[in-house]
Amino acid sequence: MSEEKKENLKNLRLCDNCDLCCRYIAVGIDKPTNKTDYDNIIWQLLHENVNVFVDHDNDWYVEFMTPCSKLDQKTKLCTIYDDRPKICRDYKQTDCVRYNNSPAEKIYFKTADDFKKYLEDKKINYKFNFKK
Ligand code: SF4
Ligand code: SF4
Repeated sequence: MSEEKKENLKNLRLCDNCDLCCRYIAVGIDKPTNKTDYDNIIWQLLHENVNVFVDHDNDWYVEFMTPCSKLDQKTKLCTIYDDRPKICRDYKQTDCVRYNNSPAEKIYFKTADDFKKYLEDKKINYKFNFKK
């Protein structure tokens, strides 16, 4: 058996019955610093299944909770495993949410109100107004 096949089998066992990391994407965004940035984050958080988080390196991300179209949701397996994108290949179980005891996020915003509270706590004087 080739080394790649062995590695794939190992991954399959480690990921047994789990598909968490194929159910969302996270895209890096700039740290918000001004009213336009705050507005944009509020706008993102007003959408269903969209979250924003800050990781332990203080990098900011917008997260879309949406499954990959190549995930077989019954078997929880990738249907293009041998041809999966590099970002999927680079992802390690040792860093994943299932095997890592601490959460990947330092700060997690699920709603616009979560983010407004963060601004209040930081004493950032910002009034969100739907009627501009
Ligand atoms: S890498 Fe981790 S989160 Fe992703 S499927 Fe495997 S065990 Fe689940
Ligand atoms: S391509 Fe495969 S491994 Fe990558 S996110 Fe989609 S289902 Fe998961």
